[in-house]
Amino acid sequence: MKKFGPMLNGAQRALKLSKYVAVSAAMVAFGHAAMAADAKIPVVAAENFYGDVVQQLGGERVDVTSILSNPEQDPHLFEASPKTARALQHASLVVYNGADYDPWMAKLLAASKGAKRVTIVAADLVGKKGGDNPHLWYDPATMPKVARAVSEALVAADPAHKSAYDANLAKFLDSLKPVDAKVAELHGRYAGVPVTATEPVFGYMSDAVGLTMRNLRFQLATMNDTEASAADIAAFERDLREKRVRVLIYNSQATEALTKRMLKLAQQSKVPTMSVTETEPAGKTYQTWMLTQLDALGTALASGDANGANAAAASGAKGKTQ
Ligand SMILES: [Zn+2]
Repeated sequence: MKKFGPMLNGAQRALKLSKYVAVSAAMVAFGHAAMAADAKIPVVAAENFYGDVVQQLGGERVDVTSILSNPEQDPHLFEASPKTARALQHASLVVYNGADYDPWMAKLLAASKGAKRVTIVAADLVGKKGGDNPHLWYDPATMPKVARAVSEALVAADPAHKSAYDANLAKFLDSLKPVDAKVAELHGRYAGVPVTATEPVFGYMSDAVGLTMRNLRFQLATMNDTEASAADIAAFERDLREKRVRVLIYNSQATEALTKRMLKLAQQSKVPTMSVTETEPAGKTYQTWMLTQLDALGTALASGDANGANAAAASGAKGKTQ
């Protein structure tokens, strides 16, 4: 009697296995048939703005998964889960930021080395590395380079649709022109104007506009989740109280008691503030996201301008030259 148990189980297992194999074979056959017709290229982007750009460039030909997509969470504190690893397993194209913004990506990719895929690292395309400001997508020079590399990879994976990819790339590059125009306009008006920020997320864009960014050490402490020094905090507070800066750029995605305190102090001191995020908000494209924030910067700079003029007139101090 005792021996029958395992034997029966073995037979049942064999039966189940044969059914499973039959079903799997059918699925594989179906999969191949579907692939010939309209299989999509599986893509994983570590950050949703890169995912958005891949989607714009690939259209119906790509199936994009973005890992960081919640503008309510601090991406610097993100830790990869088994779900992240699974998403990567089937990707034939992977795009991530690099420069230590998403160090978990390199680890996950190293853990599945055998996989056949193309990996695009934005930092490599623009010559940045760990220790540099990692918020590369705020540099207007970055996304055209990423887009070209992505488009090239899509053409290599699916040469039959090259003309469609080429057209999408041209359209994408063209759609960045209003962003560049806005940057140039703000540069013409505000180059050299001092501003500050709670975290360096908007740093490259601020540089592109030609603003003078203050309190960088404080910003790095926020980004790295370390404590700013007493001297750096005092300098930041003085800039706000004495209105030595025209605008406070507030990263609403990397907040803590100290950054909230600075926001409050800016409001009390009537220093205009503008809010930025690290992650692309729902309902926006990369282009509309950038434009919205540049518009907000323009508004903040204009009202800071007016404040400054009023303050100077009221106190009888020497007038503004601008
Ligand atoms: Zn950041």
